[in-house]
Amino acid sequence: MTNFYVSLRLADMVQPCWLVKGFCLRCSSININLRNLTRAGDRDTPSLRGKTNIWRDFVSGKKKEVVWPVLPPGISLTDTHCHLDMDDYQDDYRQVIDNAVKCGVQRIITIGIDLESSRKAIELAASDEHIYASVGVHPHNVSGLIVDHYDELRRLAASPKVVGFGEIGLDLVKSYAPVAEQKEHFKRQVTLAKELDLPLIVHDREAHVEVMEILAQAAPFPAGGVMHCFSGDPALAKQVMSLGFYLSVPGVVTFNKAETMQEVVRTVPLSSLLLETDGPYLAPVPRRGKRNEPALLLFTAARVAELKGVSLGEVASATTANACRLFGF
Ligand SMILES: [Zn+2]
Ligand SMILES: [Zn+2]
Repeated sequence: MTNFYVSLRLADMVQPCWLVKGFCLRCSSININLRNLTRAGDRDTPSLRGKTNIWRDFVSGKKKEVVWPVLPPGISLTDTHCHLDMDDYQDDYRQVIDNAVKCGVQRIITIGIDLESSRKAIELAASDEHIYASVGVHPHNVSGLIVDHYDELRRLAASPKVVGFGEIGLDLVKSYAPVAEQKEHFKRQVTLAKELDLPLIVHDREAHVEVMEILAQAAPFPAGGVMHCFSGDPALAKQVMSLGFYLSVPGVVTFNKAETMQEVVRTVPLSSLLLETDGPYLAPVPRRGKRNEPALLLFTAARVAELKGVSLGEVASATTANACRLFGF
């Protein structure tokens, strides 16, 4: 497979270069650097002409080159888990969405974590063709949920661009809500999601055994589901797949020490994988520690391609097809 990479200079984000075949007519610099990583049998060779200076708006910060993977034409990525309603995106929301689309991230699911963010997710989805919504209450926020709130969730879930139910689950790292309450509301929300025939978006943080126990009791799941930001080992991956669930890979896979996750990506078939940013959190290398945004999904996809020994185009088309199957885009 052949992948081309484009690298641009800091100056481009301040004042874009006028690039013609990599040569800038204004500042006379050559600022495209193609690194041809060739493997036999590749068919997706992207055309770079006219696409080279679209990164200037968000390649910010230090004076160093950032190398951006480029998707083959006609192939898109789907960010299956992002929190677009969060304050982190308030100042440059439009730019964030434009960056994503320019990078080929054609669909973004913005995730509800409580009633308010579920409502906001629906609003954002209604305002942009690229955005879809999920509704649900995150384990951090389940304290005090009463029947009225469940009625509201049911009502919200009927909105046209709601494609999933979540994020729901258990979080034993930061127990903002007592574990017993988390479990009770996880079960109740699983039941509601099944009744509404929506795929589950499950949050499992240090709660593998407990989450799997609740899911096993509630199986089967005709509408399917996803274990978002999957953090288990290959054995847990098998259990999750046996429920008919997908595993969603976050930017963590690009971290050097994420060996277990890399092993999972190597062993799990592409047909069971989804990609996500979980933005604004967990930005991939080379933006680790900074704000994450959907455009950066390219780096996660590129690392998955590398680990699986396939092209970026194959990873993008397979994971997008999986997302379409699960969420019914
Ligand atoms: Zn989560
Ligand atoms: Zn999340």
